Amino acid sequence: MATATLEFADGRRLTYRITVSPRGRCVRLRLSARNGLVVVVPRGINRADLDAIVKSKRDWIARHLRRFEEARHLLANQVSLAPPQTFDLPALNESWQIEYRETPSRTVSARTDQPAGLIVAGAVENEAACRAALLRWLARRGRETLAPWLGRLAEETGLTFSEVRVKGQRTRWGSCTAKGVVSLNYKLLFLPREWVRYVLVHELCHTRELNHSERFWRLVYRCEPNAAEIRGQLREAWKWLPAWLDPENRFHPTLTVT
Ligand SMILES: [Zn+2]
Repeated sequence: MATATLEFADGRRLTYRITVSPRGRCVRLRLSARNGLVVVVPRGINRADLDAIVKSKRDWIARHLRRFEEARHLLANQVSLAPPQTFDLPALNESWQIEYRETPSRTVSARTDQPAGLIVAGAVENEAACRAALLRWLARRGRETLAPWLGRLAEETGLTFSEVRVKGQRTRWGSCTAKGVVSLNYKLLFLPREWVRYVLVHELCHTRELNHSERFWRLVYRCEPNAAEIRGQLREAWKWLPAWLDPENRFHPTLTVT
């Protein structure tokens, strides 16, 4: 499957997918919040013709994309479900560039190469394997950054936890056990910093109050005065997750803070 990039008048760029319809006669544009722009083309169309047609529909595309503005990642270059060329981690104020390197290996691995660069190497034509390698890298980045962050917040609030785990939970941003083990979702890295801080504070407060009683919320508000507002925003937080992260769309609407 091929991809191409369209540049809008305001300089924003949109990466879209091109799929070939063997019996199609003309170029069709499909736009959805989920997949962004997909261009269906007849077999044998040349690239210059295709570029010209898509470009002529630029205003129409821009108008309809505005409806999906809330799904911010659609306007970055992560519109397709294919492994990304770049991604942002707002929680850390980081922006990563990815380089794919084909090697004779049958597996795929991702490693940090420079301050803002990642190398994904191996059988990189295998999209599922690339995605899995990126998820493993994200889990490592989550451990490197969320665990010390929780430690700093524990000091700041005077609350203590016994252990922190960072995983790829499908339905939870975070949780806490009776023994004070805090589990955090590495997908938090894709959310704004203040939302992540709230989730960490919420879980820390559970080390003292393992319930959602009034006493628990009083403690939360003492540590995070904007808790009520952030709680509301978190209900839509899955929209910050890039589509490639979850091609089967299994966890999005179900992610909650427990
Ligand atoms: Zn809770």
